[in-house]
Amino acid sequence: MKPKVAFFDFTSCEGCQLDSLNIDPGDLLDLLAVVEIVNFREVKTIREDNYDIAFIEGSISREAEITRVKKIREQAKILIALGACACIGGINCLKNHYSMDEALKIVYGDDAKYYDTIPASPVNAVVPVDYYVRGCPPQPQELLKVVKALLLGKNPDIPNFPVCVECKMAGNICVFERGETCMGPVTRAGCNAICVTAGRHCWGCRGLIDEPNIDSEKDILKKYGLTPKQIIEKFGIYNRYSEVTK
Ligand code: SF4
Ligand code: SF4
Ligand code: SF4
Repeated sequence: MKPKVAFFDFTSCEGCQLDSLNIDPGDLLDLLAVVEIVNFREVKTIREDNYDIAFIEGSISREAEITRVKKIREQAKILIALGACACIGGINCLKNHYSMDEALKIVYGDDAKYYDTIPASPVNAVVPVDYYVRGCPPQPQELLKVVKALLLGKNPDIPNFPVCVECKMAGNICVFERGETCMGPVTRAGCNAICVTAGRHCWGCRGLIDEPNIDSEKDILKKYGLTPKQIIEKFGIYNRYSEVTK
């Protein structure tokens, strides 16, 4: 029997699910040979509630989502957080800076009374998470790597070193050299520094490495002209839920 896989979206743009479909077609066919996808709203209309592996996309930002994710956790043998919103709270946590009434008013205006919200959190703030597929959106190859590892009963080999390592290996000139700033020194690698290679800088979407040197990063950002407020904002784009932005 093939393991049954389900995808669920919570507070998100659903870009992670969409990008999951960008796995190389050959790899996707190989994957479908060993798992059965039984629930994936963006792909199929028929859905089953009998699944072994659940992918959760999005952060938790409503009371109803707490109930829903707990129910999914009860059913799933393995639960995987898919993408920055699910893994670290992501950009949804930017609203945690405001009171919830204020956030509702900003977004829905006079219709705010029809909606409810709570401070956004990553999935692991509500239920235990077994695996993480990081990024906004994740690299399809990393999704594949995690699924392969769990099917083999192994831990996926996800880097615990900074984006700078991959950035240097890619031959990029550091953006600090041209007076810009970057979150690469404290952000978990695994994306091959794709944003720097594309001419931008790292925003930190893969979350912090274990034991990041926060003070050193803050010092560098300060040296390159950011105010204390701007430094906190820089850390907080994706990591607002983390203690380092409080
Ligand atoms: S991690 Fe990024 S791509 Fe994925 S749902 Fe959140 S905002 Fe969208
Ligand atoms: S551009 Fe960013 S990721 Fe690349 S080396 Fe410089 S600080 Fe590190
Ligand atoms: S370079 Fe930074 S922002 Fe870009 S994908 Fe990698 S971790 Fe995310």
